Parts: sequence; structure tokens; C-alpha cells
Amino acid sequence: MTDLVTTDVVVIGGGLAGLWLNYRLRNAGYSTVLLEKDSLGGGQSIRSQGIIHGGTKYALNGALTSAANAIADMPARWRSCLAGEGEVDLSAARILSEHHYMWSKAQLTSKLTTFFASKAVRGRIDALKDSERPEAFQDRRFKGSLYALNELVLDVPSVVHALAEPFQETMYQLDCSQPGVIDFDGERIKGIHINGRRRSVRIEAQCYVLTAGEGNEALLHGSGLPGPAMQRRPLHMVMVKHDYPHPIYAHCIGTGSKPVLTITTHPAEDGKFVWYLGGNLAETGVELAGPEQIQKAQELVAELLPWIDLGQAQWASFFINRAEPRQSNLLRPDNAFMARTGNALVCWPTKLALSPALSDEVLDDLQTQGITPKEQTDYSLLAGLPHPKVSLPVWEQLLS
Ligand code: FAD
Repeated sequence: MTDLVTTDVVVIGGGLAGLWLNYRLRNAGYSTVLLEKDSLGGGQSIRSQGIIHGGTKYALNGALTSAANAIADMPARWRSCLAGEGEVDLSAARILSEHHYMWSKAQLTSKLTTFFASKAVRGRIDALKDSERPEAFQDRRFKGSLYALNELVLDVPSVVHALAEPFQETMYQLDCSQPGVIDFDGERIKGIHINGRRRSVRIEAQCYVLTAGEGNEALLHGSGLPGPAMQRRPLHMVMVKHDYPHPIYAHCIGTGSKPVLTITTHPAEDGKFVWYLGGNLAETGVELAGPEQIQKAQELVAELLPWIDLGQAQWASFFINRAEPRQSNLLRPDNAFMARTGNALVCWPTKLALSPALSDEVLDDLQTQGITPKEQTDYSLLAGLPHPKVSLPVWEQLLS
């Protein structure tokens, strides 16, 4: 016996991209079913550093690149959502820092100083007077430059809660890469098939959106859907839990076009702070084993912030991939990505910050295809499926 559930859009994957899109679809009147394999946000999203970039880190060679321009509007868009006035309501989400900062150990080259003072980046990068520096950079031994960026840092678990909470009853735990779940006839997805012990359920939709991050690849291969190729850009992230009281949210820039180190600070459940360390440290550390990467991080922190004593700190590291549409030479894509294949849309936001831009692309595509809100969904037929929980932050898993 198979029950048929109809809905306008099935969203596969409950990371930031799927949750943001789901929220916007619901606001636009579409009925949706969101299917998540494990926990909401538990892929890349809750493991991200939560920086809502405005593109500054893509301009470190002293010019505005197309990547810097593509992302420039995102902080304002997120800010209006955080104020409860935007396309999704993030008023319950927590802002960790109103600014991300950028510091250099030594004085910057005159080319960069001139660029950072230029009209091209006005409103995006502000040089700070000594008295305006965050506490962690008030020490006399700090001799470099410090800028405030028009970028926010968010507590991503609280963002995931805010996006999921209104619709959690319509989100279900299901691994859609299991054989037979996606019923693809060679041209279109005909339905999502869920085998139950006594009854089976089939979900049929006007459109299926794949926002499964790194999981998109298995979904495409497993179902036979012809789709865009994916790339993985690996990182070896480091975390340190300590008693140092002043948070840091900043890129340390050197002479290269990428930050040497990016630090964000996150409150742990036991009241301590966790510094989460990314940037070039994480990109270049992928060949190192955990203890070597931690040692490299300790040396880098001691070199770049010699006045800070982290005391009896607890360190950990882990590997994670950024999943994106394939580019030549494994380059970073500039924009959110969406590709239509039959009645499916395959998506990667490529940055958490670009989730709003991705949702625009999907909504525009639905409109172009004439897919309008139509179906009433009988969620009671899905009552046997569990609802996914919001993932724990990675430091609560690895630094308890
Ligand atoms: P994910 O968050 O990975 O979500 C995909 C979801 O799909 C997961 O919940 C997964 O369980 C689910 N799924 C997978 N397979 C299946 C399946 N078969 N069936 C059902 N569900 C499935 N971006 C920024 O803008 N700012 C930052 O500061 C930043 N920092 C980062 C730091 C790190 C260490 C990393 C790795 C990335 C960072 N990013 C950042 C990039 C950003 O995290 C990602 O671009 C974004 O989170 C991707 O969101 P997503 O929803 O596409 O993917």
C-alpha cells in the first residue's frame, strides 16, 4: 500500500541553502517538504565561521575582483533579516560581532593602504583609530594596521534554528541517496519513494531542489540524474578552547592574496570561548596530520598575537570539504550556483553568505518555468518519519 503526498517543491538537504530557500518558498505560498539525511546545518553550515562576507578578502591584491562585487550586497541583506525586516525572519538569531576585522602584523604596503583608503571600498573597509580597536588589539606590542570591515559574524546554530523553527513539522529525516528513493525515469524525477514496514509513501512535486552540499554528488550519481560536476576544496580547521576573555573576529593579512589566518570566536556551552581558526592555515594544512596542524596553529598564533597567552588551552582539529560546482584548476566560484536538469535544480551557494542570492535564482527559475503554488500537502501521511534536529556545533562534539 502506497500513500501519495503531493507538494509544490521537495528540498533535499537542510543546510543553510536549503533552509533559506525553504523559508522563501513558504513565504511565496509554495508548499514544500524538506528532506535531511542527518541533522539540520550539520554539513558545512554549522561548521562554517559564520562570516557574512562583503567581499573584502577577495580584494587583498588591491583590486575589486568579480567575486568581491558578487557578494557585496549580502551583508545589508542579512542585516535586514536580522532586524526582522527582510525576506526571512532572523530576529531570533545571534550576532556574534557587528564587524569582522582585518589586521596586519606589520605596516601594510603603500599599495594596499592606498586601496583601502580609496573610494572604491568606501563603506566596506574603515581604518580604525587606536582607541577604536577591539580589546584584543589594545596591547602596546601590536604594531600593525587594523581595519573594520562591513561584514558580520553570526552564530550559525541560532541562524539554523531561526530558519527551521517555523517549518520544522514539514522537515523529515531521510537519506535520499539510498537506492530507489529518487525515482528518476531518465528525463524527470517522478517522485521520492519511502518504503515503510507496513505502508510506503511516495512524494510527488512540481520541482525537486538539491541543496545537499557535498551530498549532491551522491544524489546525482545514485539516481542517474545528469547534473553538473562537483569539486571539493578541503580545509584542515583548528579549534582552541581557552579562558582568554576578549573575542577576536578577524583576518590576519600578509603579503599574499589570501588571509594568513582567520579567527572567529564562539561561545561554548561551558561558558568558555572557542577560537575557530581558518584562512590559509586551514587551506595549506590539508596534508598535515592533526597534531602537526595543531602545532603549526600554535606557532602561528604565538607569532601573530604574541601578547596573548591562551593559558591551559584545549586544542583540536578536523578536516572538512567545501563543496562547489567544478571549476577549472579548482578555483573558487564567484557566485551562488544553480543548474536545471529536467524538473530538478542542483544548487551550491558556494558561501553561506550567498544563500539569499541562491534563493533568488531558484525563485526566478520557478517563475520562468511557470511553476506556481498549487498543491495542498497532506503532512499527516508523513507522520511516521522523524524530524531532523539542529546539529551541535563542532566544538561541542570535539572539545567537550
Ligand atoms: P551544507 O551545509 O553542507 O548542507 C547540506 C545538507 O544536506 C547537510 O545537512 C547534509 O546532511 C544534507 N544531505 C547530504 N546528503 C543528503 C542526502 N543524501 N539526503 C538528504 N540530505 C542530505 N561561508 C561563508 O559565507 N562564511 C564563512 O565564514 C564560511 N566559513 C566556512 C568555514 C568552513 C570550515 C567551511 C567548510 C565552509 C565555510 N563557508 C563559509 C562555506 C559555507 O559553509 C557553505 O558554502 C555553506 O554552508 C553550504 O551550505 P549548503 O546548505 O549548501 O551545504
